[in-house]
Amino acid sequence: MKVFKFGGASVKDAAGVKNILRVLRHIGFKDTLIVVSAMGKTTNALERVVHSFFENKEQFPQDMEKVRKDHHRIIEELFESETAAINQKVNALFDGVLTFLNTTDIKDYSLVYDQVVSVGELVSTNIISHYMNKEGMENHWLDARECIKTDTYFRDANLYWTDTEAAIQLAVNGKSTLISQGFIGSASNGLTTTLGREGSDYSAAIFAYALGAHSVTIWKDVPGVLNGDPWKFSDTVLLHQISYREAIELAFYGASVIHPKTIQPLQRKEIPLYVKSFENPENKGTAVSKGKTLHPEVPCYIVKNDQTLLKLSSKDFSFIVEENISEIFALLHQYQMRVEMIQNSAISFSICIYNKYGKLQPLLEVLKTKFKVKVTDGVSLYTIRHFDKPAINFIKNKVGEILLEQRTLNTAQFVVREKP
Ligand code: ASP
Ligand code: MG
Repeated sequence: MKVFKFGGASVKDAAGVKNILRVLRHIGFKDTLIVVSAMGKTTNALERVVHSFFENKEQFPQDMEKVRKDHHRIIEELFESETAAINQKVNALFDGVLTFLNTTDIKDYSLVYDQVVSVGELVSTNIISHYMNKEGMENHWLDARECIKTDTYFRDANLYWTDTEAAIQLAVNGKSTLISQGFIGSASNGLTTTLGREGSDYSAAIFAYALGAHSVTIWKDVPGVLNGDPWKFSDTVLLHQISYREAIELAFYGASVIHPKTIQPLQRKEIPLYVKSFENPENKGTAVSKGKTLHPEVPCYIVKNDQTLLKLSSKDFSFIVEENISEIFALLHQYQMRVEMIQNSAISFSICIYNKYGKLQPLLEVLKTKFKVKVTDGVSLYTIRHFDKPAINFIKNKVGEILLEQRTLNTAQFVVREKP
């Protein structure tokens, strides 16, 4: 088997869906499991439905109708006069969610979120599966919730690998072309779970692992993995080969092309991952596999915006020692801060954090009772893997002011204020 993954951008409209069929015809789709995300920005739109369900009850049916209409527009373009069967299917899915919202008294935001947001993937895969059948490309639609078995940590569920592996093998069992959903799974209580935003790559890796697939291909709107985000850097270079280890490092530092959890299951079974362009499927793209760390050997740039730099020092000029540091980390963990970089000197301790859950203010209140705290908001963290002198100079010229700098053998990091 091989596993393909098509993300939201590849199915954002009818033309995108048609292009997927073109890619599949060109590359071949026998013995292939195809994982598909929700169409375009559907997940964001469904997040708004959940938000209005909790914040403004009158609003959510309208928000939902908008999502439904967007899908019907795509269906009309694809199926022309033969829309009855697929419309019925799609309406049943949306109605199921509306019924759930209209009858539930559950207050758990994350639980409700997963029941609602997952409909994006269920709808998109139904549309694509029906459309392929209509176009003579026989396939089976597979409910990923029968396969991907998780705990009940809603919105970021953890996998039960053994159960998942068995369920996938049972469900696939000799079928040639399967269409399934990324991002979603289910818990043993029957509720739907999700694997975290952008989790469809991870789903593809899970399917591949369970099937011992011979490869995974992620089809994207870029030619492959580049050595920097093309929105932020000009003159980016396509990386032809990345080792598993290096891919994990790049994902760790925030390279967003590959979801961080994706690599590990593939590495365990040495299944190669290809990242290719759905516009030019014949091009080679990037391979993440055993072998060379990086080819070509160029510096790789990763930028994380919206960071906060905290500089803590003792109130009485005493040293910052193990005891203080362990206390600081306990607090960072308690307030769910993502720590991106740390640096300490005798009397101060600097931390670059990402305030993902909006708990910075209460954290600061506690910290200020114990330390002198200097807060610099809205900074960016630049990471260069495999840096060299020109790469460092390039960053120094590009940014406004460097607030903190750190280098290890392969990695240079800068906390910076961007140029206004
Ligand atoms: N549809 C989900 C999201 O937008 C999962 C994915 O696209 O990977 O986050
Ligand atoms: Mg997406």
